[in-house]
Amino acid sequence: MLKHAALLLFATFAGLLALSARADYEPRAERVTDNVYAIVGPLGQRSAANNGLNANFGFIVTAEGVILIDSGASLLGAAQIATAIGKVTDKPVRWVINTGSQDHRWLGNDLFVSRGAEVIALARTAATQAEYAGQQMDGLTRFLGESIMGTKPLPAPKTIAGDSATLELGGETLMLAYTDAHFPGDAWVWLPKRKVMFSGDLVYVDRLLGVLPWSSVKNGQKAFHALAALKPAYIVPGHGRVCDLAQAQRETGDYYDFLAGKVGAAAREMEPLAATLDRYAELPAFRHLENYEGLHRTNMSRAFTEFESQ
Ligand SMILES: [Zn+2]
Repeated sequence: MLKHAALLLFATFAGLLALSARADYEPRAERVTDNVYAIVGPLGQRSAANNGLNANFGFIVTAEGVILIDSGASLLGAAQIATAIGKVTDKPVRWVINTGSQDHRWLGNDLFVSRGAEVIALARTAATQAEYAGQQMDGLTRFLGESIMGTKPLPAPKTIAGDSATLELGGETLMLAYTDAHFPGDAWVWLPKRKVMFSGDLVYVDRLLGVLPWSSVKNGQKAFHALAALKPAYIVPGHGRVCDLAQAQRETGDYYDFLAGKVGAAAREMEPLAATLDRYAELPAFRHLENYEGLHRTNMSRAFTEFESQ
């Protein structure tokens, strides 16, 4: 019996190794500022080649261990993130903070817990993870196929009540606050001492942000204004390269302002949807962003629906 279990374990492990070898995207840590690193994922869709790591992650090396921001989309993806961290420091991952409930923010939690880390999130973030777990796993299985093997959805076990929280470990201070933009319960992690903002899926650069059926343009606009008021020196966006506030403003802040301002106004004034979408189809300020072609019209349509119902 034991021998069987060992064999099975070995087979799973060998299978995972074979699958890992298939991934052609290799996460790499890049230094943002002292003690702070970003792992910038590809801009395209989830695939077996990127293990669902088509998003950004980050970590802070403190005197008492590593704090990881978001855990990747699968067991294999999480293991790749752990390897990237291991190339920078020998210190263990003590904490994982989840900024959201979209697959790539949290489906790697289980791996880090099994290695002794504590996974922490604001309460509504964890609740949304539990609510969307089935849907996230189904969607991801379609993109990753058998590379999703071994992934167990584990909503953040340690949750924090209230709308914001300040956490400290090894001399680093982290401030969590809700953004509620891309998914309900999304949050950012702000490092006041380093002036680094891990925005989660509030900020997208290099590619156009996506408005999903459960996203809120109103919340996105409000949260972006609050982010700008903090004057971060570095932003690790949810997607796209590490950037400054000016780029985030141009590629996310201005787009939220456009959606809420122009499309929102048209909806409130009960102008026809189709005419509104046609009027704003070509926006030179955002046209260069990846995914513009595929997302812009749908984004406007969802913004219209959100403002129409208010
Ligand atoms: Zn995302």
